[in-house]
Amino acid sequence: APVLIWFRSDLRIHDNRALAAAARQGPVIAVFLRCLPHWQRHGHGANKLDFWARGVAALKASLEGLGIPLIHRELDDFAEAPETLLAIARDTGAKALHFNHEYPLDEMRRDAAVIGAFASAGLAARGHHDSVAFAPGELLTGKGDYYGVFTPFAKAWRRRLTPERLALSDAPTPQARLPIAVDPLPGLPELDDTPVDRRTWPAGEQAAADRLERFLRFRGRHYAHRRDIPAIRSTSELSPYLALGMISHRQCLQAVLAENDGSLTEGDAGLTAWVSELVWREFYRHVAFGFPRVCRHRAFQAPTEALAWRDDDTGFRAWCAGRTGYPIVDAAMRQLVTTGWMHNRLRMITAMFLAKHLLIDWRRGEAFFLRHLVDGEFCANNGGWQWAASTGTDAAPYFRIFNPTTQSQRFDPGGAFLAEWLPELAALPARARHAPPRDPLEDLDYPPPIVDHKAARARALDAFKALKPA
Ligand code: FAD
Repeated sequence: APVLIWFRSDLRIHDNRALAAAARQGPVIAVFLRCLPHWQRHGHGANKLDFWARGVAALKASLEGLGIPLIHRELDDFAEAPETLLAIARDTGAKALHFNHEYPLDEMRRDAAVIGAFASAGLAARGHHDSVAFAPGELLTGKGDYYGVFTPFAKAWRRRLTPERLALSDAPTPQARLPIAVDPLPGLPELDDTPVDRRTWPAGEQAAADRLERFLRFRGRHYAHRRDIPAIRSTSELSPYLALGMISHRQCLQAVLAENDGSLTEGDAGLTAWVSELVWREFYRHVAFGFPRVCRHRAFQAPTEALAWRDDDTGFRAWCAGRTGYPIVDAAMRQLVTTGWMHNRLRMITAMFLAKHLLIDWRRGEAFFLRHLVDGEFCANNGGWQWAASTGTDAAPYFRIFNPTTQSQRFDPGGAFLAEWLPELAALPARARHAPPRDPLEDLDYPPPIVDHKAARARALDAFKALKPA
């Protein structure tokens, strides 16, 4: 009897735990359930949804090469998943279902309902831990709690890592064609926003593998000293591919091992620093699973729920539009809206600016990022926002408040990134771009700062000081 694999954010045939497990049991039938209204309610925007659809098309083509048919269904809500999958199992005579876990609460509940429905029908449904080296719960503190701080988590991750955890799963071998009718994939309906230029983000496994190779060949060894300089394309730009599983973290880490004499922790400083970023990715997945309140729009640090966020639509709109008068913030926001991606250093600066300088609820910024990011992914986005807003897992106290101007001087010393995204400031001498002098501003069509750094900093500190300790 055939076996079903339900693809979600694991759009690849190589090194896919669920696919490999399914292929060991019998001929495979692939399923994709497109839940556009549900994903839109979760806040995903056109860039991600478009990339996702293109990723499914690329996956379908790869599966066809293996003789695996892909059944595509449209759902309005996750709640329809159990019934839809059971109907597919009935129609195809499938005896089992495999999928790779997704860790946010809503997805875990959806999957629990599917497992329950299959069990009631006398069928097996099994989840695999594919997107992490350690399943949530496998790495706990000495007290048996989930880690709420990155550094000890990363230490435990490194200490406990074994080669088996990073072993790649084989892609299935081609199978005889099954008598299953497969409809062509439906196009995407009109979305609220127009997706960014698709050539920026070609979808699929091959595109991801090419990026990894380019990164390791040209950027990896410079990563430690260039990764914070947004004017240089020094990072991998693999986040959209990792978020939708067009490449696995194991493939990335195996490539590092091959380049770095078999070590993830010693040797080249650039490559080992990059490994840490993949551990951050895993950390936030454990956080979402271990502290599910964060999946309900709640703060990781409960006392910060009481913070007196300001109701400031004008400030929020200026931040979204890249018109705050702080060039580094504005350049970054324009990069996000134009390309669907923002450099990590700038994500920290812009997020902290919204939450601290404007004292606007981080959840508004989190939603705006998710709407625009092609790599928009709940765990990393929520983790990053809560870190920046000091409501989350940052080990440093709330008085870490970046000064956007000194950050700009430090990480864009030549002002090249500012000139690229704020052409209205490009004519200024590089040093003047970080904080344009007021005089010629009117001619430049560039706004003066909407808040004064010192005053805004003091206001944020007061708001945090007013909180009762846990
Ligand atoms: P590289 O520097 O090449 O890193 C390699 C990979 O490691 C990334 O592709 C990503 O998968 C992972 N990674 C790197 N940094 C982090 C991090 N801090 N947390 C978790 N994973 C990380 N990342 C997302 O994938 N999706 C998001 O929605 C997202 N939202 C963010 C929001 C905020 C406020 C902040 C501060 C960070 C956010 N990040 C998010 C993390 C990070 O900014 C991006 O992963 C990174 O900029 C992607 O670029 P890259 O692929 O070139 O990264």
